[in-house]
Amino acid sequence: QAKERGRSTYQFFTLSMQQKTLDRRQLELELRHAIKNGELEIYYQPVVNPSLNQTISVEALLRWNHPKRGQVSPATFIPIAEDSGQIGEIGRWVLSNACRQLKVWQDAGFSNLKLAVNLSSRQRELGLEAADLQQVIDQAGIKPESLTLEITESLLIRDTEEALVWLSSLKALGVKLSVDDFGTGYSSLSYLKRFPVDALKIDRSFVSDLPEDLEDATLVKTIVAMAQNLNLSLVAEGVETQQQAEFLVNNSCRNLQGFYYARPMPAAEVGTWLSKPPSNVTSGPTKSLFTD
Ligand code: C2E
Ligand code: MG
Ligand code: MG
Ligand code: MG
Repeated sequence: QAKERGRSTYQFFTLSMQQKTLDRRQLELELRHAIKNGELEIYYQPVVNPSLNQTISVEALLRWNHPKRGQVSPATFIPIAEDSGQIGEIGRWVLSNACRQLKVWQDAGFSNLKLAVNLSSRQRELGLEAADLQQVIDQAGIKPESLTLEITESLLIRDTEEALVWLSSLKALGVKLSVDDFGTGYSSLSYLKRFPVDALKIDRSFVSDLPEDLEDATLVKTIVAMAQNLNLSLVAEGVETQQQAEFLVNNSCRNLQGFYYARPMPAAEVGTWLSKPPSNVTSGPTKSLFTD
């Protein structure tokens, strides 16, 4: 019986694997048309500093409005675009559109607003050079320091020499580099010494069980202390509750991003949001319920 179950499990597994491969292949083909058909759209999610009543920046998060499938998650199609190399073209499209959009908001009066764009490690091999980024920045008419590139730890670990040269050349333009999903990748932190990193973004897996989970609470405090000692800015992602926000602010992590403040939204909604942010941004977290 066990053997039978084993076999049917195995068969189920291979069938679903096959299905996955087919889906991926199909999505890859459909993705080819997505840019020119205007199916890609950039959403923006604010990062706020509730203690200062300020919106610091917005992060560009790509959406694929598929004509038949509805909205396809970037968690599904970005890895496909990375494998197929399509992320080269898509990544450039995101950079230039998001930078131009930032300029529109800055000109509308939000002159200190900054922008974060996710960068894929494959964009180096796919030919994104400093000169290209310079051109994007010039054409948008923004200051390089208002652009942050979010990179993942894996990029800082794999192909380190090439990655170091590449990221240093981008950084030399004056843009900022931030480590996304910080804490999920690798145990060795030595890359923080070698790479010209400006900021860390605490992964939401460390935030979701705050403040009750004492291990996560300790980890977050440790990351805060480390960021302070290394003179890195810090953002916490995935803040969904007032309690999480309070814990983070009370522990000196002041830049917060998450559904508690705002979901990623279409560009057209961001202007309205910036003019009239919700009260939990403007009044900050209420007095702490959680003290050490
Ligand atoms: P990420 O850069 O770590 O972005 C954060 C993700 O967490 C986003 O998912 C965002 O919608 C989600 N999120 C934000 N606040 C909360 C919260 O309070 N609770 C929960 N549960 N989730 C929250 P999204 O938009 O689905 O993007 C997923 C990932 O896809 C991104 O993770 C990023 O790695 C990648 N991605 C998105 N756009 C781009 C892009 O233009 N280029 C590249 N290379 N990757 C992108
Ligand atoms: Mg990100
Ligand atoms: Mg992240
Ligand atoms: Mg994340």
